[in-house]
Amino acid sequence: MNIYIDIDDTICRTPPNRDYSKAKPILENIALANQLYDEGHQITYWTARGGVSGIDWTKVTEKQLKKWGAKHHALKLTKPAYDLFIDDKVLNARVWEKRGNKVAMRVILQQFQKDKDNDEKEDEQSGDRHDGPA
Ligand SMILES: [Mg+2]
Repeated sequence: MNIYIDIDDTICRTPPNRDYSKAKPILENIALANQLYDEGHQITYWTARGGVSGIDWTKVTEKQLKKWGAKHHALKLTKPAYDLFIDDKVLNARVWEKRGNKVAMRVILQQFQKDKDNDEKEDEQSGDRHDGPA
């Protein structure tokens, strides 16, 4: 799977003043992400750091990922700033943190795949196509 993982308050605790250099790693979550990496998934860390302020946090972030041992294939600082993200393929970081042990993570990924397969099957049966708005 191609998996995008947020950074702040997902794999680290970041101070409310958003001084990213002071972020503290959540090692359990990094271990979960590393497990996904080791299982062969494509891991991209995706953050909105600097998106509003215009400050380039690339170097700080790269150093942190390295220091924290966060395995990844790519780092993108292109995530838009938003207050709420509504999407059909989201796993909330709090749920991930609470239930993301090895077994739960495998079950979650399997469930995502099953849901996707079922959606596609239903679409095929109903003749729906995903060509976007007419
Ligand atoms: Mg975040």
